[in-house]
This record gives sequence, structure tokens and C-alpha cells, in this order.
Amino acid sequence: MPHIVVIGAGITGVTTAYSLLRRGFNVTVIERHRYAGMETSFANGGQLSASNAEVWNHASTILKGLSWMMRKDAPLLFNPFPNWHKFSWISEFVAQIPHYRRNTVETTRLAIQARRYLFEIAEREKIDFNHERRGILHIYRDRRAFEHATCVNALLREGGLDRHAVTSEEIHAIEPATHGVYYGGFFTPSDSTGDIHKFTRGLAAACERLGARFIYDASVERITHPGAGVDVSWRSSVAAEDSDCRDGLERISADGLVVCAGTASRTIADRLGDRVNVYPVKGYSITVHLDDERSQRSAPWVSLLDDKAKIVTSRLGIDRFRVAGTAEFNGFNKDIRADRIRPLTDWTRELFPGIEMTKVVPWSGLRPMMPSMLPYVQAGRRPNVFYNTGHGHLGWTLSAATSEIVAEKVKQALAGRGRVSMRGIP
Ligand SMILES: Cc1cc2nc3c(=O)[nH]c(=O)nc-3n(C[C@H](O)[C@H](O)[C@H](O)COP(=O)(O)OP(=O)(O)OC[C@H]3O[C@@H](n4cnc5c(N)ncnc54)[C@H](O)[C@@H]3O)c2cc1C
Repeated sequence: MPHIVVIGAGITGVTTAYSLLRRGFNVTVIERHRYAGMETSFANGGQLSASNAEVWNHASTILKGLSWMMRKDAPLLFNPFPNWHKFSWISEFVAQIPHYRRNTVETTRLAIQARRYLFEIAEREKIDFNHERRGILHIYRDRRAFEHATCVNALLREGGLDRHAVTSEEIHAIEPATHGVYYGGFFTPSDSTGDIHKFTRGLAAACERLGARFIYDASVERITHPGAGVDVSWRSSVAAEDSDCRDGLERISADGLVVCAGTASRTIADRLGDRVNVYPVKGYSITVHLDDERSQRSAPWVSLLDDKAKIVTSRLGIDRFRVAGTAEFNGFNKDIRADRIRPLTDWTRELFPGIEMTKVVPWSGLRPMMPSMLPYVQAGRRPNVFYNTGHGHLGWTLSAATSEIVAEKVKQALAGRGRVSMRGIP
């Protein structure tokens, strides 16, 4: 069978490798870190959330973003320092506002398909990733936000999602660990949560069992096209001293290539003559270790999304609670800033005062986001080059579906057939 190289072993690269293996391809995954799932697929919000499928291309996002520009603890931060990448992305983001409705419905459909695939994979490969199928609860503190959410809910329902409004009392009944009075909420019983890093590592191990080769500590630097195939060259960070490569690069030949390189996909695409305008939208999380019985009792099991604070939560087993949020447009900077972590710790203390906050692990990651907020699942200009990238705030939720789409595209291209559409998942 043909040999396909996948660049990147985050959630999209590993699910792509798996979908290709299931179609009988030989697969090699090249990853610059020592393990799978070490960049954005490391400590995200954990939500497998069709209920969060609303794209951000809405006039209200721009207005909120402008009003937040002066606040250091705002959920969305924009560094106004001029930069071509950022401004080209923002102008394309604004140009997508007329497609807000269509793109939200399409993302919902994709997310519903994706979670079915992901559950099947986890069961087939027996992956333990602290999966909690208890639903996701969106909470709103004022009438205006709730009314907007009611309009969004109509779009999510159009995409096929079963999601309904709940009162403040019902919020407490669904998740007894919550306190206070809310204007209202929306509950999606079919959504769930889990540890993306554990899943990615578990699936990478399953891929190896199925015959995939993983080359770690290897940064792809050059891609050439001799004849119909693809040659991929990488520099190893643990290269043997007696390596006989003259330029320090090692090389592998393949019949095709899938780029799943997260925020690095734009640079790789550029080298391949393609334009994939992924921007790194930074976010933060904290993982609170629940070492004592009181903390374990006080932390919620049902996943939450607090609309006002733009914070999401996931319970990762009995002893870990993940809280994530914020969006920052500030380039490839991954510094963990204390003033951006504080809103997450303050929020946790305020809503769940019974949790002891002595062991809190902060993290930051860069969401690989397209201006349309739809993942980029396309063939490139050069023969047998493909992309499965740009999943933004929903890569964990969507990757099990987009990997099926891209694997089917690879299969059809190598068999000399036409294209499959986003809706055409088998
Ligand atoms: C704070 C935060 C919260 C989030 N919460 C959620 C959530 O609740 N639900 C959800 O669905 N999504 C969430 N997301 C988004 C989700 O985590 C991402 O969309 C997803 O992890 C992206 O996966 P990826 O495989 O595309 O990228 P990555 O995980 O970054 O993987 C790309 C890989 O490519 C490798 N690579 C890049 N260049 C090269 C090269 N030249 N050579 C070799 N290897 C290379 C990198 O090392 C990396 O391992 C969140 C993101 C953040 C930041």
C-alpha cells in the first residue's frame, strides 16, 4: 500500500494517522517533540463540545474585543502592534461575518459526527482518557447574554444538537457543586469531556501497534517533489554523532503527505506554495489537583462554560479539575503570564470555595485558528499534498471527523478519483 507521511503528532496528526492506517496505508508520523501531544494538545479545556460550535465571526465579538482592549484581565486580548499576519487574519475574519450562520451550523454537524467517531475509537483501542459523559452546562448571568444564547441555540439545533434551556434551580440540580443565582443556562446532555493528552498518547500507541512508525525529536525542514512522490527531510535534535548526512538532515520518501502541524502549518504551507492562514490564538489553563476529600466533593463533575468569563471546566477523574479560557492575539509568544492566570484561579475560588488551591499547574497553548474558524481540510497545489489543520478552539472536538475526511481524500486522490465534501464522511 502507498506510504503517507504525517507532519505533527498532536490530536489532528494522530487521528489522521489512525484513519489512514484503517484504510490500509503505510504511515510515518514525524514530530519535533519527544512524545505525541506536547503542544496545543497538552492541557486544553477538555471539552468535546458540539455545544461550543458557534463561530466567533460575529459583530458582537468585535465590539466586545474593542471594549476589552484596556482591561488586562479581559477574556480576549489583542496586541495592536502592527503585524501583517495578524491584520490579514483579522480582515479575513471580518469578511467571514456574513457566513456566521452557515459556518456555525456546519461546525455543529461536524462536531456531532466527530464525537461518534471518537467514542468508537476509544472503545476499540481501549484508551483511558478520563472520559466523562455527563453533558456540558452553559451558564449565563444576565438577560442579554441569555437572549443571544437562545438565538445561537436555534443554530445548534438546526445542526442537529439536542440542547435545551434550564433555570437557575435546574443548573443546581444538574450540578449540585454550583452556587449562586444565574439568569439561566443551556444544557447539552450528549456532550462530554476528557484528557486530550492522554487520548493522543493512547492513540499514538494504538497506531504503533497497527504498524505506524513515529519519528520523534525530528523537525521537518524541507519537502521536495521528485516525480509523483514526496521527499520529506528533517533535522533530529538527538542526531547520532556518526550520522553520515552531509547537511545534517535525514530524509524519507513517500507517496503522499498530510500536514497536521498546528500553528506551524502556515509556514510549512508557504514552503509548499499554499496559503493556509492559521493564526496562533493563545489560551491558558490551570489544572487544580484535588488531593483531599473536601476538594474532590466541591469540584463539579458536569462540565461548565461560563459565558461571561469565557471559561470552561472539565473534571479529569477524581483528583484533577481543569479550568481554561482567554484568547490572546499576540503572535507565537507562549509565556505564562501571572495576570492572565489570575482570572482562572479567582474564578475557581469564587465559584468553588471548597476547593483547596495549593497545587495548581498553569499552562498556555496556541490555538491554530483559521479566519473562518472552520478547519482547513484540503488538498494542496502540489500532487498528493494534503492539510488537516486550523481547528482553532475546537480541535479536540472535531479532529476525529476531519481525520476521516482527509484520509478519504488521500485514498481517492491516490486511486485517481475525485473529491469528497465536508459532508461526505463515510
Ligand atoms: C486554552 C485552550 C483551551 C482549549 N480547549 C478546548 C476544548 O475544550 N475543546 C476543544 O475541542 N478544543 C480546545 N482547544 C483547542 C485544541 O486544543 C486544539 O485545536 C488542538 O489541540 C490542536 O491540535 P493540533 O494537532 O492541530 O495541534 P498541536 O497539538 O499543536 O499539534 C501540532 C504538532 O505538530 C508538530 N510540528 C509542528 N511543526 C513541525 C515540524 N516542522 N516538524 C515536526 N513536527 C512539527 C508540533 O510539535 C505539534 O506537536 C483549546 C486550546 C487552548 C489553547
